[in-house]
Amino acid sequence: SEQTLPQMLERAAQTYPDRVALGFLGANTSYRELWQNAQRLALALQKMGVKPGDRVSVMLPNCPQFVTAFFGTLLAGAVVVNTSPLYVADELAHQLSDSGSETLLLLDTFYPRYTQIQDRVPVGRVIVTGIQDALPFPKNLLYPLKARREGSWVDVPGDAHVLRYTDLLKFQSPTPEPAPRQPDDLALLQYTGGTTGVPKGAMLSHRNLVANAEQGRAWMTDLKDGQEVTLAAIPFFHVYGMTVAMNLSILTGATMVLVPNARDIKMVLSQIQASGATLFPGVPTLYNAINNHPDTPKYDLTSIRACISGSAPLLLETARRFREITGGANLVEGYGLTEASPITHTNPIFGDQQEGSIGLPMPGVDAIVVGEDGQIVPTGEVGELWVAGPNIMLGYWQRPEATQQTLREAHGQTWLLTGDMATVDEDGYFRIVDRKKDLILVGGHNVYPREVDEVLNAHPAVLEAAAVGLPDEYRGESVHAVVHLKPGEKASEAEIIAYCRQHLSSYKAPRSVEFRSEELPKTAAMKILRRQLAEEATDAR
Ligand code: ATP
Repeated sequence: SEQTLPQMLERAAQTYPDRVALGFLGANTSYRELWQNAQRLALALQKMGVKPGDRVSVMLPNCPQFVTAFFGTLLAGAVVVNTSPLYVADELAHQLSDSGSETLLLLDTFYPRYTQIQDRVPVGRVIVTGIQDALPFPKNLLYPLKARREGSWVDVPGDAHVLRYTDLLKFQSPTPEPAPRQPDDLALLQYTGGTTGVPKGAMLSHRNLVANAEQGRAWMTDLKDGQEVTLAAIPFFHVYGMTVAMNLSILTGATMVLVPNARDIKMVLSQIQASGATLFPGVPTLYNAINNHPDTPKYDLTSIRACISGSAPLLLETARRFREITGGANLVEGYGLTEASPITHTNPIFGDQQEGSIGLPMPGVDAIVVGEDGQIVPTGEVGELWVAGPNIMLGYWQRPEATQQTLREAHGQTWLLTGDMATVDEDGYFRIVDRKKDLILVGGHNVYPREVDEVLNAHPAVLEAAAVGLPDEYRGESVHAVVHLKPGEKASEAEIIAYCRQHLSSYKAPRSVEFRSEELPKTAAMKILRRQLAEEATDAR
């Protein structure tokens, strides 16, 4: 791709100036307005001293300010650092320091978390916005008193370091000073999900991100430019939501309907019905939650035509049930990782979808399965998945060693070593076996916890479950299951173990089961935190 991200938005603003770009709780922003707001913010940032290449951390849920902040920052030549609103103060401090962010743009309710750590981070200016800034109503009418009583809403002090977002948007000069950016310049620091270790900043360029949106468009062959409505519930602060819900929408002139909290299923349902959303990218936990929500039958979800599910394995039962609820929406499994902007594989949207497969490489992506010796393994055999293409990151921010371990020159290309074990069949369909790091070693046997998860999840009383490895004196490790039952359902440890033994070789079946009355802990991308479950279970022993 030869475009930068701001050029992509500018093009949408020229082609569809009056089309709604952002729909948010009843307030609409056209593509023309979005482009103007991004330019105003860019100008304000430049006046405040933000220089090309500087890092600007953005800590916002899905709301109009996110999209404006993203493109405004890039237009000023600076680099966006996506910052999860779920971070606790220490995680926030780590990311602000690691990225060297001198500017932080955040929601007012998150401000107290910043004040806890402001003495140990490089941030020199803070820009604060509130949800109400995106809405046409007076703040007092809208902002629930409850939030104030809990002390989460703060009146931000008006000193020089803290600025109101709304004041910055008052800059009226038509265009910012041009800050020429090339497609290969750094656009985004996206810290990895942290499912398996300390978060590292993946450096994604303009080319990487535009390429992945273009690959998405090439894959979705029946996308109608200027006509689609995307239900944007998955968070933009994760690169999956950023690419499939935001950038792909802008590339195709789609309207984005922004839902600030994907866990609010009623809100998701009502927004789909109200907007007539046609595209609904998500993750398996989200589709599952909709499938199981008591209010789902009350809503008309038939406008939805196509959905891509990524980030974790999609059970066929989930896809089947969702198809039923929506009267035929095509829910298709894809795969990717932060370091690839993120999508590398998808099942064909109108072709042969294979159960349990992540599908075929996206247009422009090369993929191989490689053994320990660095050689491509024969068809059907397990090895590590390597991918190459225009969407592969530049490297990890200030971590040359980690970059060297993850990017490799071979067979004439730069390959990303995904850390996932996979197979490929004769028709070119890939399957993820498991993460290399999640492998459980039981008395010399390899157990892939995902295989155990699938059996656990198929038990009729189970709502969600995950298998983890625990240290075991005799076997090295043993399989432990953490289970959250459906409301009103009962099952004993012995029953769950017996059920697993029916469906798995005995060394793979859990030796212990732990029942939890709450949802299992998840990352911001709604992925179960296996590492945390294992730590908690080990501590409890
Ligand atoms: P970290 O890299 O910090 O440990 P993370 O792995 O959650 O966190 P992401 O980049 O968000 O970081 O997730 C990518 C991973 O998600 C992949 O490497 C893979 O293990 C998993 N994944 C994504 N899609 C699928 C899928 N369809 N099926 C199975 N696994 C998937």
